[in-house]
Amino acid sequence: MNALVLGAGIFGVTGALELRRRGHRVQLLDPGPLPHPLAASTDLSKVVRLEYGADEEYTRMAERSLEGWREWNRTFGAPLFHETGVMFLRRTPVASGTFEGDSLALLRRRGHPIEHLSRDLIRARFPAWNADRYGDGIFNAAGGYVESGRVVERLLQLAVAEGVELCEGATFAALDLRGARVVGALTSDGRCFPADCVIAALGSWTPHALPFTSGWFRSSGMPVFHLRPDDPAPFVAERFPVFGADISSSGYYGFPMHPEAGVVKIANHGVGRAVHPSSADRVVGEGEIAALRAFLEETFPALARAQLVSTRVCVYCDTWDGHFWIARDPEREGLVLATGGSGHAYKFAPVLGGLIADAAEGRGQEKFRWRPEVRPERSEEAARKQSPA
Ligand SMILES: Cc1cc2nc3c(=O)[nH]c(=O)nc-3n(C[C@H](O)[C@H](O)[C@H](O)COP(=O)(O)OP(=O)(O)OC[C@H]3O[C@@H](n4cnc5c(N)ncnc54)[C@H](O)[C@@H]3O)c2cc1C
Repeated sequence: MNALVLGAGIFGVTGALELRRRGHRVQLLDPGPLPHPLAASTDLSKVVRLEYGADEEYTRMAERSLEGWREWNRTFGAPLFHETGVMFLRRTPVASGTFEGDSLALLRRRGHPIEHLSRDLIRARFPAWNADRYGDGIFNAAGGYVESGRVVERLLQLAVAEGVELCEGATFAALDLRGARVVGALTSDGRCFPADCVIAALGSWTPHALPFTSGWFRSSGMPVFHLRPDDPAPFVAERFPVFGADISSSGYYGFPMHPEAGVVKIANHGVGRAVHPSSADRVVGEGEIAALRAFLEETFPALARAQLVSTRVCVYCDTWDGHFWIARDPEREGLVLATGGSGHAYKFAPVLGGLIADAAEGRGQEKFRWRPEVRPERSEEAARKQSPA
């Protein structure tokens, strides 16, 4: 097969690499520079976790991905996955029906030694937390965070070394159609790239670059904050692993002190706001900063007045049900969409390429199928129910 992959974020690069490894000719297009500074995948860190509530399919995929991250640490030449452990704390009990309670039950059933934390344990082991408020939670020593921008960089090197033809500086403009058959793509500078299969891995650019998809996807911006604590000691990974703080209601999650950048990253997963990924409107607002300060005051008092070093609006591609969309277009033969998921795909990088190559070869997975019947429902409550980070 002659495959053309549009977009070199984590979906595009893993898909391109896997298709090449299966013997196909692969061209990978991106406007660049790579990793693209506005791409969702280009970031200091992304959460890698097994916790997926009661969803056994994602949990199984996360287990396979975790093994993949450990393997990549062994083969990449630099350990870009940091297994700090992951904790989810609550102000109310970890009960059945909550994200934390369901994750605890499912992961224990699958043989993972998850700890159920009491208030006293939280106070003793995780001193940055306000244990007067957060008195219940779970801790999993498996999982942590990955240096996501650096991983994309490394995968691009591998892809090129293994024969993927990388076309940096090429911006997809339109599908080349013969009737209902996609026979390639045209770029904004007038070039034509013929292909048997075009895989659109355009992240949050998808509904803009392919307007017929705009009823199914939305590009949403979420605020990200980098803070520098006065005293870094309580925020090192051993005492401050990757966390979610009442994640289903507050949306806040974060990372330990980054060893090189020297900052604690905290982000919010919520309904977000519709924003074009290339727009100049990607600026965190005063209201978002005030909300962060209020959250810090009651959660990590030592961070409440910490210097806010930088902020960023990260834009992801929302699907209305929160699941990925990795499937062949039934109406445009030769087109595959590989995107979506409302902000939790990065951790699956070690298995994404296989899912994308399977779809291109006609063996897509049911959960990520073509599903225009899923209707828009985007309330704060619906967003919180979807998987965070
Ligand atoms: C704030 C935030 C926090 C997140 N946290 C986590 C987390 O902790 N854990 C986790 O698992 N996931 C997380 N995610 C989700 C994860 O980042 C995304 O699911 C994933 O990175 C999406 O990858 P992608 O390849 O689809 O898109 P992107 O990484 O955005 O890549 C899209 C690519 O398409 C290219 N492109 C754009 N236009 C064109 C064009 N016309 N022609 C060719 N190429 C084009 C862009 O240059 C870019 O390189 C988070 C997302 C956000 C926004």
